[in-house]
Amino acid sequence: MSLGETVTPLIPLPALARDLGVARLTLKDDGLLPTGSFKARGAAVGMSRLVELGETEIVLPTNGNAGAAWAAYGARAGVKVHVVIPRDAPAITREEAIAAGGDVRVIDGLIGDAGKVSAGLAADNGWFDAATFKEPYRLEGKKTMGFEIAEQLGWRLPEVVVYPTGGGVGLLGMWKAWQELRQLGLLRGDRLPRLVAAQASGCAPVVKAFQTGAAITEPWPDASTAAFGINVPNPLAGGLMLRDLRESGGCAVSIPEEDIAEQRRAAFRREGVHVCPEGACALAAVRALAASGWLGDADVVVLNTGSGLKYPL
Ligand SMILES: *Cc1c(COP(=O)(O)O)cnc(C)c1O
Repeated sequence: MSLGETVTPLIPLPALARDLGVARLTLKDDGLLPTGSFKARGAAVGMSRLVELGETEIVLPTNGNAGAAWAAYGARAGVKVHVVIPRDAPAITREEAIAAGGDVRVIDGLIGDAGKVSAGLAADNGWFDAATFKEPYRLEGKKTMGFEIAEQLGWRLPEVVVYPTGGGVGLLGMWKAWQELRQLGLLRGDRLPRLVAAQASGCAPVVKAFQTGAAITEPWPDASTAAFGINVPNPLAGGLMLRDLRESGGCAVSIPEEDIAEQRRAAFRREGVHVCPEGACALAAVRALAASGWLGDADVVVLNTGSGLKYPL
C-alpha cells in the first residue's frame, strides 16, 4: 500500500550549526512524505499489513497527523478509518482526515482520553485497534527512518540523533533498526548513535523520568504545548524509551514554548527549512546540548517530523 513515500533528504544546516556551535548538523526532513508528516511511515506499513490480514474497519486515537495519514492510506486501501481526536489538535490535520473519508470524532481531553474512547469503540464494534503500540506494524514502518539514515550516510551512523518525542514510535523504531543492521553486519563500525529525546517543557514525562533515574514515566499533569504531536502526557512505551535512551548513552531535554517558536523562525530565516513545531523543538534541544557541552564535537542528525506548511507561522 503506497502513496509514493520516499527516502527523505538529509539536509546539511551549516549556518545553524555555526550559530549553535555544533560541529556538523543535518536535518532529515520527513515533512516531504505523503500527508506531510512521518506518520506516513507507520501508516504505509501498518495499512499494508492490515489489508493482508483482511481487516476492513479500524479505529485509532490521534494528536492529528496519525489520523490524517491513516485516513489517507485507508482511502487508498478501501479500509474504513475511524479517528478519535482531541479538540485542541491542529485543525488542518482534522480536516485532512475528514476530507480523506475518515470518520472523525472530536473529544474534550488529551490523547490518553482519546485512547480510552478509541479502545471502547474497538471493543464495542469489533474494529481493529490501530492505536500506538496496540499493534506491532507501525513500529516496523518507523524503522525505515533508521535504515535510511544508515544507508544515506554510507552505513556509518551519526554520533547523535535528536528526535521530538511523544509516544516514542520513531525513537524505538530507529533503535530497533540500527540493532538489526548491526546484527546483520551491515554497519561500518559497531557504535550506535546516542539518542536524544526532545520534549516541550509543557509536557515532558520522559525528560523528568530520565533525569530522576526512574524506570518508567509518570503521567504529566495539565500537559500543554503548541507542538501538539508530542503532547503525550502518559506514553504507553515510557519505560521502553527510557531503556533505549540509557542504553544508547543518550539523554532527554525539555524546551520552553517560546524557544520552540523562536527556533522555528530561526531555522527558516537562516537555512530556508520550514520545520514543524516538533522539529523546531528537536533543533532547540541541539542548541541546549551544545551550550551545555554535552555534544562535544559530535555530528548530529535531527528529525523534522512534519512539514512546516501544516502549521502557519
Ligand atoms: C506524532 C508526531 C511526533 C511524535 O511521534 P511519536 O512516535 O509519537 O513519538 C512528532 N512530530 C510530529 C509532527 C508528529 O505528528
